[in-house]
Amino acid sequence: MVLNMDSAASTLNYKFVVDAMLGNLARWLRILGYDTLYDKNYQYWKILEISKREGRTIITRNSHLAKKAYKMGLSYVLIPKGINVIETLIYLKQNGVINVEYPISPIRCTVCNGPLEKFDIGKWKCSKCGKIYWKGSHWNTIQKTVIKVANSKLYDDGEPIKSK
Ligand SMILES: [Zn+2]
Repeated sequence: MVLNMDSAASTLNYKFVVDAMLGNLARWLRILGYDTLYDKNYQYWKILEISKREGRTIITRNSHLAKKAYKMGLSYVLIPKGINVIETLIYLKQNGVINVEYPISPIRCTVCNGPLEKFDIGKWKCSKCGKIYWKGSHWNTIQKTVIKVANSKLYDDGEPIKSK
């Protein structure tokens, strides 16, 4: 496990750019309110460029990308292979990359990362793409998962956490 981040910064201030392979993770980070850029067509040079330009932490499962980020002095997290998206969230939480609290509120559009605006009781609208969100039964499922993430611990393979 490699973590190359400024530990003094508040986790709530982190902004992410996520590897093209991790679309599901990007969606969950947005649900948790994190400003997360993701595109399934992002190539490595693009991810590195965005990270550098916007001060975003790269999240990847690819060690080549992580190595490039390291050489460029960029903030990145290399997540272990073979863990699912929920375990990845637990892993990020456990390593101080994200803060998971509940109940959560709709903050960010899971489709386009745009900020949501409340426009009716229990209804939100994406200020960028117009998608409507409401707290239906789907929301309860999400909330349950967030509670699970907030209360779980993941034991990694004992590799030390490396810092810059
Ligand atoms: Zn949107």
